[in-house]
Amino acid sequence: MSDCIFCKIIEGSVPSKKVYEDERILAFHDIQPAAPVHILLIPKKHFASMNDAGDEDWPVIGHLHQAAQQIAREQGIAESGYRLINNCGPHSGQVVFHLHYHLLGGANLGPLCTTS
Ligand code: 5GP
Ligand code: ZN
Repeated sequence: MSDCIFCKIIEGSVPSKKVYEDERILAFHDIQPAAPVHILLIPKKHFASMNDAGDEDWPVIGHLHQAAQQIAREQGIAESGYRLINNCGPHSGQVVFHLHYHLLGGANLGPLCTTS
């Protein structure tokens, strides 16, 4: 997807602070961290959101969870705790339409949901 910022990060035309990479996924620091640790995990295959995941995508989504567990250990937040968040669609506030998870931790994150 030529107009997708995360695809540009994958191809390297937009820089990022990489935390983990393999043939299927990439993890990098969020440009506007909402917590002391704020890492984004994405599949290298472009699809817009969880609504667009097909049968063939569940293995890579499982792999993203596995990588998040490992990265949480490496970042020192496994024991203190963390959140793994996927925003999907308008009510979630999703702004980048390439499926991603937020790994947040390093401080008390407060209540899960706010509405406005
Ligand atoms: P969403 O609201 O779509 O779940 O979150 C998208 C996230 O991507 C936001 O937390 C935002 O800060 C992050 N983001 C957007 N553009 C860039 C970028 O160019 N580089 C990095 N590292 N993060 C980005
Ligand atoms: Zn993309």
